[in-house]
Amino acid sequence: MPKSEIDKPRCHCAVVGVFGHPAAAQMTYYALLAQQHRGQEGSGIVTSERDEKAGRYRFHVHRDFGLVDDVYKDERIFTDHLRGTLAIGHNRYSTAGASNNKTNIQPFTVLYKGGNIAIAHNGNLTNFRSIRKRLQDEGTIFQTTSDTEVILHLIARSKEKDQIDQIRDALNQIEGAFSLVILTDNKLIAARDHAGFRPLALGRKGNAFVVASETVGFDIIDAEYVRDIQPGEIVVIDTHAQKSGQPISLRINDQPARPHHCIFEYIYFSRPDSQIFGHSVDKVRRKLGKTLAKAQPVVPKNPKDKVIVINVPDSSNTATMGYVQETNKMGGKVRLEIGLIRSHYIGRTFIQPKQDVRENKVKTKFNTVRGVLKDNVVVIVDDSIVRGTTSKQLVQLVKAAGPKEVHFRVTAPPITHPCQYGMDFPTPRELIANQCGGDIKKIGEELGADSLGYLTIEELLTAAPHENGENYCTACFNGKYPVPIDVNQSKEENEA
Ligand code: SF4
Repeated sequence: MPKSEIDKPRCHCAVVGVFGHPAAAQMTYYALLAQQHRGQEGSGIVTSERDEKAGRYRFHVHRDFGLVDDVYKDERIFTDHLRGTLAIGHNRYSTAGASNNKTNIQPFTVLYKGGNIAIAHNGNLTNFRSIRKRLQDEGTIFQTTSDTEVILHLIARSKEKDQIDQIRDALNQIEGAFSLVILTDNKLIAARDHAGFRPLALGRKGNAFVVASETVGFDIIDAEYVRDIQPGEIVVIDTHAQKSGQPISLRINDQPARPHHCIFEYIYFSRPDSQIFGHSVDKVRRKLGKTLAKAQPVVPKNPKDKVIVINVPDSSNTATMGYVQETNKMGGKVRLEIGLIRSHYIGRTFIQPKQDVRENKVKTKFNTVRGVLKDNVVVIVDDSIVRGTTSKQLVQLVKAAGPKEVHFRVTAPPITHPCQYGMDFPTPRELIANQCGGDIKKIGEELGADSLGYLTIEELLTAAPHENGENYCTACFNGKYPVPIDVNQSKEENEA
């Protein structure tokens, strides 16, 4: 899909790790395929193979731009090249580092004094510019512009003797959001920052271990979910773990975890069939819709008019069901309808649309079912509004079908600040909430809707799970960043 077509925050990345499976690369491929929504710019897999004749391990690497299916379309990549029983993989959407530079496609690999090492990262380091500058001043040569590369250099330069201690030493120095998979010659290591911004889960398939950003990566290969990698935890998987069934769990340092899970994973990013931060995304998203129904009901001007509620496929499907269910529970009489049809076959079109189509790019992605919308009061439920361009075009599209009223409801608060932890929003001045000075009535007028209703931050937090003391990051809605940001980094990225 062309980058500008749909106005949503861009997701960070997906990571996968497989230990102890004869088809480790294929398993990684399928798990990456299931997590394509987390990154569509490029993909890479690295495997480790024991060369018995030479008495050493070899790393095999395949990385390229494109969707997962395109990157690995030649089957020989698996049969002839990506051999070995250990693998890590990465789907990329660049959050730090130039997107058109092939060297920025992960996993990154190096051969250093401790052997081969490869790394794949989901998140964004908040202090990488100062670390990079320090390392450059000391003579380190960087091959990429990605924040992730500093981790490899910190590992390679560590004074610790043991490789796991070297990794721990490096992770101790980085700040921000990181869910990592690291491949050494004979180990798979998974680690997560203290705040646990991004998800990372551990699974099993027979005797093999699997790590993935989202549990949909397990479902596709029939692996079972074991548990989440805990915030601030390093999990080491080796042959010992395979025999005992228990990987080693270490802390990155002695600091207690301060969980601040990214609440946007529940709002928009993760797939509804995934389990994130220990909870079903479908269930949480449904609850967001129910909470929105209580907080922002729609009252038609004429009580005799029929009210229908439509989803914006696919991201608001589940929340819309929750909205309808709760409205009717409260005595409302609304009907869930499929009023917008999404074309799944509009992929990466590079043919410029004609002028009249270009004015409403949403038309290339969605069409309306006129008979459903005509003469009814229509409530559109969406997950978020970023620049407002897509929402405005959706309202226009729906209005063209002849409804009596069009109301817009959102299962998130207004977005006002950039994300510093791995999600790509436009600059603050491009966000419609900032352009309208936070005036929700004005935003609604700008969209052309008869009314607009968001969730407040408090309502959003009430709807999110808290059973296990979960705590969430809401910085893109209120600017309260739970982990400090390197001053230069924040300035540069805010102005980008
Ligand atoms: S700023 Fe927003 S998108 Fe970024 S981690 Fe926090 S909640 Fe998630």
